[in-house]
Amino acid sequence: MSKYYLTTPIYYPNARPHVGSAYTTIVCDVIARYRRMCGDEVAFLTGTDEHGEKLQRAAAAAGESPGDFVAAKRELFKKLWRDLNISEYKFVHTSQNPDHVRSVQWMLRQANKNGYIEKKEYEGRYCVDDERYISDGAEPANCDICGRPAELISEQNYFFKLSAFQERLLRLYEERPEFVRPDFRLNEVKSFVKSGLRDISVSRRRIKWGIPWPDDPEQVFYVWYDALTSYMTGIGFQSEDPARQAEFQKFWPADLHMIGKDILRFHAVYWPAFLMAAEMPLPKMVFAHGWIYYEADKMSKSKGNVVYPEPIVDALDSFGAPGNDALRYYLLREAPFGQDTSFSYDALIQRFNSDLANDLGNLVSRTVAMLHQFSAGSVPPAVSLKNQQGTIQLITAYQEAFERFDFSSALSFVWGLISEANKLIVQAKPWELAKSASAADQDKLRETLYITAQFLRVISVLLCPVMPISAKWIWKQLGQTRDLEDERIDDSLKFKFLEPATKVGKAEPIFPRLDKEATLAKLYELAEADMEQDKPKEASKPVQIGKPTDSSPTPSTESRVSTPESRVSTPESRAATPDSRIPTPAPSQISIEDFAKVDMRVGEVVSAEPVANATKLLKLMVDIGAEVRQVVAGVAEYYQPEQLVGMKVVLVTNLQPRKLRGVESNGMVVAASVGPEGRPVLATFKEDVPKGAKLK
Ligand SMILES: [Zn+2]
Repeated sequence: MSKYYLTTPIYYPNARPHVGSAYTTIVCDVIARYRRMCGDEVAFLTGTDEHGEKLQRAAAAAGESPGDFVAAKRELFKKLWRDLNISEYKFVHTSQNPDHVRSVQWMLRQANKNGYIEKKEYEGRYCVDDERYISDGAEPANCDICGRPAELISEQNYFFKLSAFQERLLRLYEERPEFVRPDFRLNEVKSFVKSGLRDISVSRRRIKWGIPWPDDPEQVFYVWYDALTSYMTGIGFQSEDPARQAEFQKFWPADLHMIGKDILRFHAVYWPAFLMAAEMPLPKMVFAHGWIYYEADKMSKSKGNVVYPEPIVDALDSFGAPGNDALRYYLLREAPFGQDTSFSYDALIQRFNSDLANDLGNLVSRTVAMLHQFSAGSVPPAVSLKNQQGTIQLITAYQEAFERFDFSSALSFVWGLISEANKLIVQAKPWELAKSASAADQDKLRETLYITAQFLRVISVLLCPVMPISAKWIWKQLGQTRDLEDERIDDSLKFKFLEPATKVGKAEPIFPRLDKEATLAKLYELAEADMEQDKPKEASKPVQIGKPTDSSPTPSTESRVSTPESRVSTPESRAATPDSRIPTPAPSQISIEDFAKVDMRVGEVVSAEPVANATKLLKLMVDIGAEVRQVVAGVAEYYQPEQLVGMKVVLVTNLQPRKLRGVESNGMVVAASVGPEGRPVLATFKEDVPKGAKLK
């Protein structure tokens, strides 16, 4: 049994994870499941990168300590991995983690002992207002947050002598070209290193939220040095627990660091240099994949362009389709892995209907139904499988594609098996053979049924890493009682056959065909409702319940990733790219005419009830004198429906109607948003006021 250690990037927990982080984690989960089925002992690491001034500032803006702030965000990641059916993983977090402090300080002491650390004058641009390092060097630069010219500062920092590693790194790329994949990324890295490496500052004086520098309380570690080392901490490096130390001995070096292309330089240049300086073994491979772009036009209507995975899964689940598996299949099948890819709801539905509902779904339901109908519900006697050559070749091709992370091709080979099996049924016409009395026809019928079921056996094993839920469902319908994950994806698969006389399970549809219009409507509806609930909130300012807040600038550290070009970013690079995500413009002034455009009325809540599948929403009927309005408000976590009935509230009446979780909302109840969590407190009146009275 060999070991396999793979990592996702250590994610940056300044906001809720989006489909970009989910993509990397799903891919790693697929690889982890595949390696386990190949018989490897797998360690699969993910986690959060929690230090640095950006997070320190984000926490301050939220009125929390950095420690509490990141601890809460960390849980959002773990929750999403649960929701996405991510298999067993290890989780490392970099703050408040004594093992990690020891790891980072150990790495530094080693590098220092070997002469690769020196203290010298650091010169750079720094924004005093935002307490933020803007750029290294004296070149004038503006702060990318507040736009002010950044000050030139100089301070004594510790530098890592990256320049000393230029030749060794180039030799590494020559001797082990698989160190950086895909090929074209290796070429990028080589030319960067050839162009000359400069020493880099690995400590900071003006930041407090970080790992303390050994023997110099004035400095903390620069975040990248800290973050990369967590790949070792996460599997027990410098742990005081002997069992965890043994784990490190077994699993290091990593077999695979899976990353987004934006953080390639840190992983392919800095990280091996840091490890060489500390005389530690290097990881075997860094694989940089592309970004996911979203069909921007569609989403921009409802502003924001970040896709979250949860509403996609929920929308498909609501039609009885296995949402998680469908999303995984789509992400891996749609585009060659490694390159940029676009995400589109249309294509997701198309893939689902053609590949899953049609090809695979039909094969499963036909096969199981025929076994019930023509073979008394059990697997017929085994036949000698002649012409197995095609199957064996497809299995081999699948394995080879998986080994090079060419998931799209691997899946296309499985679909090759599916179409072989479907073709066999169409040609043999079992329903006609069943009517024939001839012994030859009965033999042919049994043979067809056996071979088809055997195809399905192989298919469910091969699909298990990518679509574990559906594959297990097929497996069960074939009457298999062993755990599918205990099956092996190796050469033995080619010679393992279904046990004759096995009772097959009940035929159940796995992939119901999706109606395109209805599914699209549901996807948009849930995505919007989800973004609505996730809206940044701000204290002492009306929270716009049930309406987009795009009209108001909402400075918040919680704001979603919405970089230009509608990039759904993969795990963010820190320091590599300017942070454009935390806008802080003051609300601009408006005229009295602008204000008069907003029609606000006194309304009385006549009824209140929960909205199905939406824990935060209440549906209110509000009497505003001339009419009763239906409004959806995001207050369910803080108000019981019966508290609201009879209450006089303020309703904005001239907003365009919109749907939240399928329920139409005709207006917006005004509330203050209180505290860091944005608790809504409804505006009401001390004196008795008539329904319908206008606010001005
Ligand atoms: Zn600034």
